[in-house]
Amino acid sequence: MKKLLFQFDTDAHPSVFDCVVAYDGGADRVIGHGLVTPDNVAPLVDGAIFTRPPKDKRNTAIFVGGSDMQAGQALFEAVRQRFFGDFRVSVMLDSNGSNTTAAAAVARLMGSGELAGKRAVVLAGTGPVGQRAAVMLARAGTGEIRLTSRQQSRARHAADELRARFGIEVVPVEAYDSDDRGRAIEDAQVVIAAGASGVELLRPEHWQDLPALEMLADANATPPLGIGGVAAMDRGAERAGKIVWGAIGFGTLKLALHRACIARLFETSDLVLDAEEIFAIAQSLA
Ligand code: NAP
Repeated sequence: MKKLLFQFDTDAHPSVFDCVVAYDGGADRVIGHGLVTPDNVAPLVDGAIFTRPPKDKRNTAIFVGGSDMQAGQALFEAVRQRFFGDFRVSVMLDSNGSNTTAAAAVARLMGSGELAGKRAVVLAGTGPVGQRAAVMLARAGTGEIRLTSRQQSRARHAADELRARFGIEVVPVEAYDSDDRGRAIEDAQVVIAAGASGVELLRPEHWQDLPALEMLADANATPPLGIGGVAAMDRGAERAGKIVWGAIGFGTLKLALHRACIARLFETSDLVLDAEEIFAIAQSLA
């Protein structure tokens, strides 16, 4: 029986990245739908849950993606709400690689040093990856977590969303430019840069001489990188006395994790993969 993965994307075009990884993770066929919302998803879910007998339902799975974390979260909930009894299939949420990327970054940082009780800053943390990075840091036991945005209202909105969904407290910080971001990390031990692709958030002088700073990870693999002075291939390298992980450096774990999650979707018909479960899998793979 063919393993079918239905990719429900909140954007107009279902993510090509997610499609490729779905095949590499073991799907026989990936069927993408764009502009999927809680209001139009019901017939798509019904098609997935009413077509195969219970013993075969593990061969059908649903993946929720797209560039908007809150839209993805709402769609993921709507999909699950449609399930009842045995009429369900396994489902995963990974808007813009949010859960898999953040889980891989934090798992790598955990392997490089102690995170418990440390002060952490997620730079440009309002996107999907940054929001989930804050969640993974909280699960790793970090102390204060700051989340920066160029606009205080966006940082506060992300903090409110994180409190509502995960019950975690994140300190919203407005940091309009690199100097502001440099000030936001002055007394931090851990920094994750989660800015948009091709945007430099910090220059080397903003972090290299900070005495408290121990570890940094940069999610942006597209030049200019998010943290000047970090190389995309850095894999726990030592630079200026700090441990640094570049986007490709921890990206190999992200890809392995993403594929492993897809493979697990086809093992049972009732798996739910969101931040908590994906972080646990990341730790088992790291
Ligand atoms: P995103 O939503 O595109 O951007 C994140 C935040 O960056 C935005 O919310 C915005 O925050 C800020 N930003 C945008 N333009 C900026 C600018 N010119 N100056 C300063 N800040 C700016 O990002 P994402 O989807 O969460 O992904 C985060 C990063 O992870 C991206 O670089 C992506 O390519 C990368 N990624 C890496 C992997 C990997 O395996 N390494 C996998 C997936 C994604 P405000 O508007 O609130 O300031």
